[in-house]
Amino acid sequence: MGTMKYPEYVGEIFARFSRAGEEAYIVGGGLRDALLGITPNDFDIATSAPPSKTIEIFSDKRVIETGLKHGTVTVIFDGAPVEITTFRVDGSYTDSRRPDSVSFARRIEDDLSRRDFTVNAMAFNEERGIVDIFGGKADLEARVIRAVREPELRFSEDALRIMRAFRFSAQLGFSIEEKTLLGAKKTKEGLSKIARERICVEFIKLLTSPSPREALELMIEYGVLPYVTGDYVPSERVLSSLSLMQNEDFIRLGLFFCEAEQEKIRGILHSLKCSNKQITGALAVARGAKIRVDSPTSATSLIANAGDYALYGARASRLLGVSASNAEALVSASRAPARISDLEIGGRELIELGAKGKQIGYVLDLLLKAAMLDPDVNEKERLIDIAKGIIDESRT
Ligand code: ATP
Ligand code: MG
Repeated sequence: MGTMKYPEYVGEIFARFSRAGEEAYIVGGGLRDALLGITPNDFDIATSAPPSKTIEIFSDKRVIETGLKHGTVTVIFDGAPVEITTFRVDGSYTDSRRPDSVSFARRIEDDLSRRDFTVNAMAFNEERGIVDIFGGKADLEARVIRAVREPELRFSEDALRIMRAFRFSAQLGFSIEEKTLLGAKKTKEGLSKIARERICVEFIKLLTSPSPREALELMIEYGVLPYVTGDYVPSERVLSSLSLMQNEDFIRLGLFFCEAEQEKIRGILHSLKCSNKQITGALAVARGAKIRVDSPTSATSLIANAGDYALYGARASRLLGVSASNAEALVSASRAPARISDLEIGGRELIELGAKGKQIGYVLDLLLKAAMLDPDVNEKERLIDIAKGIIDESRT
């Protein structure tokens, strides 16, 4: 594995703590990814220094004290935020969610033992090299997710770790070690106490990963999926199509849930605290996935149903074997407008016809609906005729 590569600012952080007589290490996902040869999103730092001392050491930098009660100080290096956290041990857990208290520790080893998985529980600095007391390096090489210490205990302390195990397995393409899986199965009930939006964050990270199928199959097999999606279980066909869809959240959500009714999908996504944008997009992709596209006419009806999301719908339905192999080409070639800006007239023409205020948007919506159903309508004169009719009628 040779020498560790890290950005210059990490070297500077090491040097400053060292001069102040404190230890500092790269920890967590940054180190894991660097060892895997993946460029890390960010480098998190753990230090023996208490937060007040860290703030002093970086007094010439912009420092944000948001995570102070957990010992985290964010220091800005050339615009890039770096989280520096004092070595920490968690107090007791009584609710499967959050430790009742946290306290600072003097040794990096104590900090590593509160972390979730062995591959996330290593530390590195120049003096000590890689500190790896739980076999994280061996697990990286064997490509396994294994809980640090006793899985059942760790999952009952914090049930979100169960979701994280499946998420990391999907993102990294790692298997999950047997005892860790069994621990998840025994403690899964704890997930009902975890905030839905935190579950959702992990679930979306899993869904948008390069190969979500295996992790989702395991979640089904070990009875974890119901804590995310209730009684909805997608077919094997859906699971194996996921990795072939674009990896945006709403697209993967739409395909994942496409075998449920629209109202049910809306309910599940709402309960997971998804954004309106995610819900609207997922619903449209799910609708599109069910429509068979094998002709210009059927492409038009897909566009009428899924609008801006029609191409994703076509791709999904092709992957599911519902549509012909040229479904996306048919949708791309269709003259049917998918959005208001595709119409041959706009607000300006409507104002000339005497439309005012809210009426403009309302008329444009109606014109779009008409042109979606019959692309021939999307012609300047025909649209003006229809618009005139609506506007005149509203005057009487
Ligand atoms: P990502 O690339 O998704 O950010 P990460 O490993 O950095 O992955 P984070 O959620 O950013 O994940 O957490 C940083 C580190 O903090 C983890 O690597 C792990 O060591 C520790 N950690 C995070 N959440 C937990 C948890 N619920 N229980 C125990 N340790 C945790
Ligand atoms: Mg991280």
